[in-house]
Amino acid sequence: MKLAAIFLTAATVLASAAYATGPTVIAHRGLWQAPGSAQNSIRSLLLADSIGSDASEFDVWRTKDGLIIVNHDKTINGVDIESCTSDVVLAQKLENGENVPTLEEYLAAAKPLKTRLILEIKAHNHNSNERAAIKETVALVKKYGLEDRTEYVTFSKNGILLLRDELGPEVPVHYPGGDYIPAQLKSMGDISLYYKITVLKKHPEWIREAHSLGIPVGVWTINTPEEMQWCIDNKVDFVTSNIPEKSMQMIKTQIK
Ligand code: MG
Repeated sequence: MKLAAIFLTAATVLASAAYATGPTVIAHRGLWQAPGSAQNSIRSLLLADSIGSDASEFDVWRTKDGLIIVNHDKTINGVDIESCTSDVVLAQKLENGENVPTLEEYLAAAKPLKTRLILEIKAHNHNSNERAAIKETVALVKKYGLEDRTEYVTFSKNGILLLRDELGPEVPVHYPGGDYIPAQLKSMGDISLYYKITVLKKHPEWIREAHSLGIPVGVWTINTPEEMQWCIDNKVDFVTSNIPEKSMQMIKTQIK
């Protein structure tokens, strides 16, 4: 009870601190629109850091033979990651010519940077694969000493609970599915409400409810200045943005 009360206080401080500074800006799949970049490439991570993004988001899958790799879609160049071995997956190229990064390569590149990491573990077809993906991903983040700079996302409802168990109460875990009310996320272990802007526009009361429970509120994915403005006006705590530079500039002009 005592611990829960302490955590609630800390989470409330985090949520209210954001009001003074505007939403934290996360580059969605890195800064991938720049020349020579590509979604989820190491280049996109380096570029996100170079523009001063608060955080950079990326997605991971587990191959059939148990290698954690970085990619958004379940397939790459027609190769299904979960059902193929790593030699086949790693032979694929990203749009900018980079090899598909392993999570280890990605974390090694992230280590000397400042940007925080928003690590999405994709919902796998097989529960056993997903469980292994979560445990092995968390272990790799620890191996690279990035626990304090990493936050986690998954659409998987089982995965969210497993992540909270694996990580303990203080590591931020964000649920993007859009179908839990704030009180449910609170009871699942202080999971952040991280929803599409269309969902929050239908339920703006969830922002106030979440904040009153000490639950941070995030939005995915910002594509226009108008969407960013809505998030600023409605005191959203963090946004994943496809226009991170513009998003940061709006905060700077209006708040900081
Ligand atoms: Mg993602």
